[in-house]
This record gives sequence, C-alpha cells and structure tokens, in this order.
Amino acid sequence: MSLFSMPIQELKGVGPKRAKLFEKIGAPSVGALLRLYPRAYQDMTAPYPIRQAPLNEPCAIRATLYRPPTETRVRGGMLLCKCRVTDGESDLEITFFNNPYVKDRLIEGESYLFYGKVSANFLKREMLSPEFYPEASCPAIIPIYRQTQGLSSRMIANAVKNAFLLLPRDLRDPIPEPLRRQQQLWPLRDALETVHFPRTMDGLRSARRRMIFEELLVLQLGLLRMKSRKRGESPLRLTKDCTEEFYRLLPFTPTNAQKRAVREAMTDMMGGSPMNRLVQGDVGSGKTAVAAALCYNVIENGMQAALMAPTEILARQHYATLSAILAPTGIPIALLTGSLAAGKKKKLAEQLQSGEIRLVIGTHALLSEGVAFQNLGLVVTDEQHRFGVAQRATLSSKGNNPHLLVMSATPIPRTLALMIYGDLDLSVLDELPPGRQKIETYAIDSSKRMRAFRYMQKHIDQGLQCYIICPTIEEGENDMAAVTQYAEKLRTEWMPGNRIGILHGRMKAKEKEAVMSDFAAGQLDILVSTTVVEVGVDVPNAVVMLIENAERYGLSQLHQLRGRVGRGTHRSTCILLSDAQNEEALTRLQVMCRTSNGFEIADEDLRLRGPGDFFGSRQHGLPDLKIADMAQDMEILKQAQQAAHTILTQDFALEQPEHRGLRAEVNQLFQTLVGG
Ligand code: ADP
Ligand code: MG
Repeated sequence: MSLFSMPIQELKGVGPKRAKLFEKIGAPSVGALLRLYPRAYQDMTAPYPIRQAPLNEPCAIRATLYRPPTETRVRGGMLLCKCRVTDGESDLEITFFNNPYVKDRLIEGESYLFYGKVSANFLKREMLSPEFYPEASCPAIIPIYRQTQGLSSRMIANAVKNAFLLLPRDLRDPIPEPLRRQQQLWPLRDALETVHFPRTMDGLRSARRRMIFEELLVLQLGLLRMKSRKRGESPLRLTKDCTEEFYRLLPFTPTNAQKRAVREAMTDMMGGSPMNRLVQGDVGSGKTAVAAALCYNVIENGMQAALMAPTEILARQHYATLSAILAPTGIPIALLTGSLAAGKKKKLAEQLQSGEIRLVIGTHALLSEGVAFQNLGLVVTDEQHRFGVAQRATLSSKGNNPHLLVMSATPIPRTLALMIYGDLDLSVLDELPPGRQKIETYAIDSSKRMRAFRYMQKHIDQGLQCYIICPTIEEGENDMAAVTQYAEKLRTEWMPGNRIGILHGRMKAKEKEAVMSDFAAGQLDILVSTTVVEVGVDVPNAVVMLIENAERYGLSQLHQLRGRVGRGTHRSTCILLSDAQNEEALTRLQVMCRTSNGFEIADEDLRLRGPGDFFGSRQHGLPDLKIADMAQDMEILKQAQQAAHTILTQDFALEQPEHRGLRAEVNQLFQTLVGG
C-alpha cells in the first residue's frame, strides 16, 4: 500500500477516536494529512520589544518571567492565571483563563516567546491567553492549522511531523524534472516539508509557490482536458440565420447589446467549430431573449436545443416565457424537472430521442441518465455559477459536441473568467432595456418598519405587488418557521387584508411553483420569501422589496435580490431594513443606496469581503483548492496554464511515463466532481 493512502490511524499517537477527528477535518489518510496545509503561520523570527509591539494585532514578544504566576478563582468559578514579564525595558501583564497547566509550565527567570495580541490602556500593557514557547526550544515559524473540537493545531502539527518521518527522502514528484527546472520549482519533498515547517519566511514563499503551481497546473490540465473538443469542421454548423424572424416574435425591440451578443454567437455557430461562449449581463439585462434567439436559430436549422436552469422555479419561468414567445411558430417545447412523474419523464425522454420535441427546458434532471437527444445542437446553461464544470460537460456529452452558451449575472473580471473557463469566448450585455428606472434604495432601522409597511400598502392599493425577504436563514436554522411566522404577523397584525404568499426552501417544487405562478398572475399582493427568489425570477408588476436583516447578505446577493424589482416600467423601491451598528455593514448598505451598477457593486464586494469569499469554489463550481487562491495567485495561474497547454499538446492523454504522476493528481482532484 502506498504511503499516501495509508489510513491516518497508522500514525504514531493517533488512536481510533482521534482518527475520527482527522477524518472530520478532511484527513482520513496520511496523504490527505500532508495536503492539509496550515491556514496561517506565527512568525517568531523577529519578536517585538514590548513597547513597540503593534496594538491589537497578533505578534510575537520575547520576554522574561520575573514573578511566578499567581492563580485566583473569580466569581462563576473561572480560574485566572496572571503573570508579569519584562524585556528589560518595559513590562507586560499576561492573563490566562481556565488553563490549569500554565502555572507549572511558566518558570520564574526563564525567557519565553509569547504570541498574541497586545492591548494597552494608560496603566499597563497586557496580553490575554497568548501562545508561548520557551525561548530555547521555540520553532522559528509556527504553523497554524484549522483546528476542531478535540484536535488542536498543535496535535495536527505533531501528526504531520510523524507523517514526515515515514516519508521516503526521494518522494516521487508529479512535476517532471525539466518543467521544475524551467519554472524554478522546489522538489516535492522539500516544498511539502517547508510549507508545514518553514524555517524562514523566504523559504516559505518558495515552497508555497511550488505547491500552488502544482495545484493550479493539475487544475488547468483537468479543465483543459474536460472541455477538450474535437477541432475542425463541426457537424452542427448552422447554415441559415433566422434572427430577424425571431426578433419579430418579441414583444419589444432588442437592445444593441442583445443584438451584438446574438450576432457574436451566430458567428460562432455558423463558423467551423463548436461555440463555447459566456454571456455576462447584469440582472435585468435581458439574457433570456438572447438565449431564446439562439435556440430558435438552432431549431430552424433542424437541430434540438436544451436550456438548463439552476432551480425549478427558474426552469418553469423560462418555460413559460419561451413558450409564449415561440407560440406562433408551433415549435414543440417541453419542461423537464425533477418533480415530473416517472411515467411522464419516460415519455418525454422518448420524444427527445425521437426528435419530436425540439426545445427542452429543465433543471439538473436534464443530466439524468435516461435523457438522450436525436440531434442536440445547442446547450444553454443559465446562471452558470450554480453548476459545476463537470455538469456542463455531462450535458454536452449528450450530443455530438453541441454548441455551448453559458449565461451569468456574476460579473467576474474578464481575465479571471477566461482563466477559469479556459477557452470560453465572452459577450457582455452592458446595456439595460430602455425605460428602466433606477431602483430607489433606502436603508432604515426597525423603528421605521411600520412606515415601510404603509409605503407598501400604498402601492398594493394601486394594484402593484411587493416582496419581503425574510430573516433567519442561517445554516441549520429553520427558515420555514421564520417565513411562516412573519407572514402570520403580517396577516393578523401588520398588514391585514392583503393576499399574502410564502416561499421557502423546504417547500416542494410543486408548491413553490404554485405560489410563484399565483404571484406572477397578480393573485397575491405580498410574497414573503427567503432568498429562493434570488436568481432570475421575473415579475414586472412587483415594485417594492423590503429586505429584513439586510446586514446578513453580501453586496452581490443584495444586488441579485434587488434585481427582482424594477423589471417593468414602474418606479421601484428597495428598502433595506437593519439595526446593525457595525461600520462594515453600514458601508455595505450605503453602497447599495448609492449605486445600482452590478459591476461597481461586485468591485465593492471584492474590496469589502476580500477575494477568498468571492471566488469561493461554490461560486464557480471548480474543485476545492487547498493552497492556491484564484484571485491572489493570478501570476502563478498564468504560468501554470501555459505549462498545461504545452504538456497537453505533447501528450494529451498524459500517458508518457514522466506525466503519470500528473495524471494521477488530475484524477484525484476531479474525482469528487465527475459524476457528482
Ligand atoms: P436577466 O438578464 O436578468 O435574465 P431577463 O431576461 O429576465 O433578464 O429580462 C428582464 C426583463 O426585461 C424581462 O421582463 C424581459 O421581458 C424584459 N426585456 C428583455 N429585453 C428587453 C428589451 N430589449 N426591451 C424591453 N424589455 C426587455
Ligand atoms: Mg435571467
């Protein structure tokens, strides 16, 4: 058995109980443990003199204990242990809480390194519960692992140390020697060991670069192979352009941006090779019509088209929209979602296979095994960040290399999008349909809630509709209760006499659909909902949105939510209700009041939340990265992409002996995705 797949329990000091904990943090094997990188490091190489220590941020101090620690028990039974240390110039008071072991580990007259936050008032400087190490035996840089209940960072570090004892000196390196030399990358063993136990910060940087490069190289190899497409003449080449015909079916005149996107996509599909295009457009920019135009063209050219949406509500909405637009053409359209009865699903699958149905709109259900097409020409996925790359690949594998169109409202910077999606071409809808008015946005606190309700009532009395986005959707909490209770309160107390519907994640698809269609048909005045309405839902008659606990949402999410109103020609309002006091939350709400430009909001989001969050793997559907950061490691990403291209042109199957290690890594990284 290879060392990497060796169960964690074989490590010294790891019993069955602790093994469970290691499993929980993602390290069931020794190999996985070695790839569980520290999330931070404590740099002990340059401790501060006490007086110069930065306040309220973690730092290291070197100081001598000049009085033995004293223990006191305070009310409530808490044990306080206090001691004083000095660096020869100034003093520092150190306090530990409920830690009976410190007293014996801290010895008068000895010198220690303390790591923690220094705070100061006019009387003294102090540190609360720092980490500490005797100076003589203090490591230069201490790795900090993501710990869990019962498994501290120190325990993890020890296990990693023991794992290295078992590791052969000449660990096989997946990166071929010539590439390593060309990119000036450290050998695997050295890099791995240094990432865990660095001796200098410079060394750590080099080691990290090597591990990041490897991860991104493997990622790019996987992505490029996954979307590798047969080049040359596509059998699905479109020969006639029916766009003008389609435009006559629309109840509005397309914007120039819409026309441009359609034209760009048509140029692709009428050219030699399969289309691979991303259409990016802010909420309300009219992506659906672009998709419809392309589906129509493909169908008129004798092929089938499929449109995949991330939720059942959206799929149904697209189905309704496209059915209405295409009604005069008589094109047979079907809806395929998870809630379709088995018998009907089977029938539909047959009609798709025989080519009787020309356009199918659906959810993930489109990916299921029974679904096959006669001649699938185009696959459109809407709001693509909810789908993984592998799912897209699955759907396109149902045809003979069909054209692909991906639609997204998430404004990702262009370079990054191209990097993540590789060889996707990009169309941007940078123009909203005419007649749209800015959505007036106000931030208020709960003392003005009743005023907000009166404002909503005024609109309802004119035959318009409102959304209320309800709080408590923290993980594990019961969002159903929150929505139900809120609606009840509206009905009985706050806004009686209105027709109120509720929508939340625990409802069955059919129930959700019923509520949504009632709302769309104007049979409900108010829709109380969780964020399930976030993506894409389109009810132009809804003009006011009240968002409770607005501070809980990120900017991009607020923007998506707000995009549910202001979709018609009526003036629309978004009311952000929050009692939050902290500055960050207030800044966010102010940004929302100031601008309605999605790209500007995305930038602010990036600035306020940092890139890690924004590019969290859930948003782009890539495998989890363990060390690389898509936003921060752009330079390395570029180099890795180049290298991946070079390798694949030489050896696409990664069959040559020097690429076998890489192939194993690729399979490993994508194993969780493919089929998932
Ligand atoms: P999104 O890009 O957010 O998916 P939709 O496709 O749902 O936007 O379109 C939003 C609304 O704008 C829909 O009600 C649609 O009918 C309308 N719309 C789209 N294009 C135009 C246009 N060129 N002129 C007027 N209204 C349009
Ligand atoms: Mg949409």
